[in-house]
Amino acid sequence: MPPTRNIPFFNYPALFAEQEQELTEVILDVCRRGAYILQQDLAEFEKHLAAYMGVKHAFGVANGTDAIWLGLKACGIGPGDEVILPSHTYIATAAAVHFVGATPVLADIGADHMLDPGSVAALVTPRTKAIMAVQINGRTCAMDALQALADRHGLMLVEDAAQGLGSRFQGRMAGTFGRFGTLSFYPAKLLGCFGDGGAVLTDDDGIAEQIALLRDHGRHPETGQVVAWGFNSRLDNLQAAILDFKLKTFDQDVARRRAIAAHYQARLGDLPELALPPAPDADPRHFDVFQNYEVESERRDELRAYLEQHGVRSIVQWAGTPVHRFEALGFGETRLPTTERFFQRCLLLPMNTTLNEEDVDAICDLIRAFHGHAD
Ligand SMILES: *Cc1c(COP(=O)(O)O)cnc(C)c1O
Repeated sequence: MPPTRNIPFFNYPALFAEQEQELTEVILDVCRRGAYILQQDLAEFEKHLAAYMGVKHAFGVANGTDAIWLGLKACGIGPGDEVILPSHTYIATAAAVHFVGATPVLADIGADHMLDPGSVAALVTPRTKAIMAVQINGRTCAMDALQALADRHGLMLVEDAAQGLGSRFQGRMAGTFGRFGTLSFYPAKLLGCFGDGGAVLTDDDGIAEQIALLRDHGRHPETGQVVAWGFNSRLDNLQAAILDFKLKTFDQDVARRRAIAAHYQARLGDLPELALPPAPDADPRHFDVFQNYEVESERRDELRAYLEQHGVRSIVQWAGTPVHRFEALGFGETRLPTTERFFQRCLLLPMNTTLNEEDVDAICDLIRAFHGHAD
């Protein structure tokens, strides 16, 4: 029996503790300057983020949910329009569609757990305005197929890349394929701040102009004149300064996550009872960044309880419920077989940059022992 070990799913205190001195300097610097809202640090972060992503415009906004909602609004999507998105996503993606007044239409996933172009195609109606790709778990959808589908039907392609920062498909970054793409800086996301934060990315000058107004009360960025109705959804300057600091070493974080994924693969790849995510170099078209490490097992609940008993915290994502199965939301009899089967089997193992080799080995030892495989 492997020894018990306390491994949290995500180590929130470590986010600060690992670079306490540098981060304290960043925070003190901002506070001493009294630079809280729409200041230089935000402008700098937006510039660096846009350069990192290879897009023309990046806007820091209050959170990743607002980012989607602002993007849709800036594209003119609203009442009477339908937006097709996967049911395998966080409720925020669908809620953003709902709150611009449009109708979220939920599609199934394919064998790769990403939005299935075949399922999307079957849901297109004369009211469909956009396809929302969701770059889930740190992987980018096969964007060529989705773009071809969007082109064929004259639809906009947009992206929720809250879980995809740094991930690429055919060399191109998640979040840069669509008319707009969005990011979240929730603490447990790939690039996490110390509160809420998000961004909208776009190459489209018209959309950029709309976002700049919508996030700041409709005020013209230079004159301050109110030129449209707007909201308040700005990324705090303090969070922006923290993010700007962390962005500098973000590629190291990605490399660390990929190394952990490779380690899981090496230790668990031979278990017939477990389906693992694709290994880091399994498909040359994909560069995955492993926001999450989500496995599948027929004995998911037992495995989870066993890990818990031995001090390892795992998570069944989103209360084990795909968006279309939250009864209060009115998706009625919608059935999405691949998504539903996935949610019965899925389990998130710990995946973050604070895990060391021994942690990953301990988790793998437990999983092997649970399945009766000695090393
Ligand atoms: C986290 C997340 C969001 C929302 O981001 P917040 O910053 O928490 O509002 C949206 N979509 C997906 C897929 C997410 O994982």
